Amino acid sequence: MKGSCLCSAVAYEVSRPADGLHIGLCSCRSCRKAHAAPFNVYASVPRADFRWLRGEDKTRIYESSPGKNRHFCSVCGSQLIAEHPGESNVLLRVALLDEDPGARPVSIFSVVSRCRGAIGKATLSRAMKTGGHQANRPPGTRNDR
Ligand SMILES: [Zn+2]
Ligand SMILES: [Zn+2]
Repeated sequence: MKGSCLCSAVAYEVSRPADGLHIGLCSCRSCRKAHAAPFNVYASVPRADFRWLRGEDKTRIYESSPGKNRHFCSVCGSQLIAEHPGESNVLLRVALLDEDPGARPVSIFSVVSRCRGAIGKATLSRAMKTGGHQANRPPGTRNDR
């Protein structure tokens, strides 16, 4: 699968996991701000299966919490991937894929387990109704997506 940013300066390629892409939604404060959207749609893939095709020199990193690197295009501002250095997986931003990923979000509530301690079901359902503005999480927690 290939993905690219809004201006096409940056592109990447990633192997489709054999068991399909496991897509989740994260509505933590950090993701909402970074993506300017109520949710970030992400998928975790092995780092070894990901490679930049072009424009890596155009990417910049914002460390949104300790060790959490959000890579974005310095030309157009698209969020590209997120990763923790040293971890074996990177987090795709599914909306950047240029083809149908062949999967849909597994469950809106997957965000609860993936953002440990961040938000609960009640908060999330409230966030869905309000566009996410009430789902705050403590600053500096690192398990956002
Ligand atoms: Zn761009
Ligand atoms: Zn998040």
